[in-house]
Amino acid sequence: MVPGSNPWAYAYAGHQFGSFAGQLGDGRAISLGEVVNTRGRRWELQLKGAGMTPYSRFADGYAVLRSSIREFLCSEAMFHLGIPTTRALALIGSSRIVQREQDESGAIVCRLAPSWIRLGNFELFYATGDSENLQKLADYAITMHFPEIQPPDGSVDGPQTGKYTQLLERVVAKTAEMIAHWQAYGVMNTDNFSILGLTIDYGPFQFLDGYDPDYVCNKSDFTGMYAFSEQPEVGLRNMVKFATAISPLIIQECGGDREKASGELRPALNQYSSILSDRYGRLMAKKIGLATYKETDLQDVIYPLLTIIAKEAVDYTLFFRSLSQFSIASTDALYPTEACSRTGPTEPRLIIAQAKPSLGAALQPWLEIYRKRLLEDISGPDESCPLVTASREAERRKQMDSINPRYILRNHLAQTVIEAAEVGNYAEVNELLNVLSRPFEDGSIQEQERWGGAVPDWAAGVKCSCSS
Ligand code: AMP
Ligand code: MG
Repeated sequence: MVPGSNPWAYAYAGHQFGSFAGQLGDGRAISLGEVVNTRGRRWELQLKGAGMTPYSRFADGYAVLRSSIREFLCSEAMFHLGIPTTRALALIGSSRIVQREQDESGAIVCRLAPSWIRLGNFELFYATGDSENLQKLADYAITMHFPEIQPPDGSVDGPQTGKYTQLLERVVAKTAEMIAHWQAYGVMNTDNFSILGLTIDYGPFQFLDGYDPDYVCNKSDFTGMYAFSEQPEVGLRNMVKFATAISPLIIQECGGDREKASGELRPALNQYSSILSDRYGRLMAKKIGLATYKETDLQDVIYPLLTIIAKEAVDYTLFFRSLSQFSIASTDALYPTEACSRTGPTEPRLIIAQAKPSLGAALQPWLEIYRKRLLEDISGPDESCPLVTASREAERRKQMDSINPRYILRNHLAQTVIEAAEVGNYAEVNELLNVLSRPFEDGSIQEQERWGGAVPDWAAGVKCSCSS
């Protein structure tokens, strides 16, 4: 124990595979305390895998090296990708052998978040009818993490809803933002949600290799409940659970008028889908290099592209990384558009790394749609003959390369560094961490070959186990 500290573990409730699992709690996470750094940012430090807590039930409180490396690398990778997440400060391998399906090496991750409060903390007080602590927790969360929330003061431009409805609105908005980001990269572990809309607890998760809406990364998920395409729905279900958990506070705030409370709660929940779709659309528009976003882009440009790359089983990351090389015109010089051209349309040229030859033909019609949209993006819908300049093209490429990573934490890469660490070689974990800390830089040829390729045949289908 750190001298002078007063560590704690959280009690919380939760749902597993859709059913209420009752009281759980941090069975192997211990919060050491909070520090406020020189920039005034508050961090709650937590050890995961350091041993038993009051909520360990029949388990040992330890974590295996395998899952600890995944959490350590992924939380840092996520941060550098710009996806809302908690962070990892240190990973410490232990000499302890931990018994799982087989004996494994143990480890501890020291992880950081502004707060580790999760939806399940509220759910527990709701489930046990403990409205006093429910309110204390909500008030604490508002004071510490949502200080902008103020009770209505009766003025026209002040808040129109009570502070607990505002809390719900904030949590819903942050969650929709987080899910939109994940939807642009992969499948998150959706059974743990932070009230701050941060990815927490890296259980079964996976970045996309090939784009596959039906992809399930959790070995224990036989029904596809947590498939990639279900992710937005799972997020919404979690928000409904959270709204239910704090509903007693909202009802109380509405003077016991349940109808009024439901009239406040519903719109707060309804904004989830519109925020998610808007954020996702904007992210995807950026991925294809559009500076402006139109709502129709999802239907007209982005979904048709995703349908093609799913059918052609092309690697999602490599595809988007390569797409920046597309040129609107065939030269970088000033060039007339198709509509104004006297010499006929230019053949768009594009080479997608590690794709099947059939992709070229499948993509051709879409590239025409894309080219038109890029031209409109440059000029606005009214300018009939925009100029494509080298500097505009370079700007688009730069923007695309700053959102489409060269490097992501693929399962087989994690597997490779885990195997090295299990025999005492941590250099590979550090090397991969280094690359994941600058995911948008091409790096050296050696790095690209080592860490930047598609999934090799030997690793196809490597999934993660839940025993961690
Ligand atoms: P998870 O599936 O990892 O989200 O864990 C579900 C619940 O079991 C959480 O409350 C964990 O804290 C707890 N848990 C998982 N593994 C262990 C362990 N080795 N020791 C104690 N509790 C654990
Ligand atoms: Mg968990």
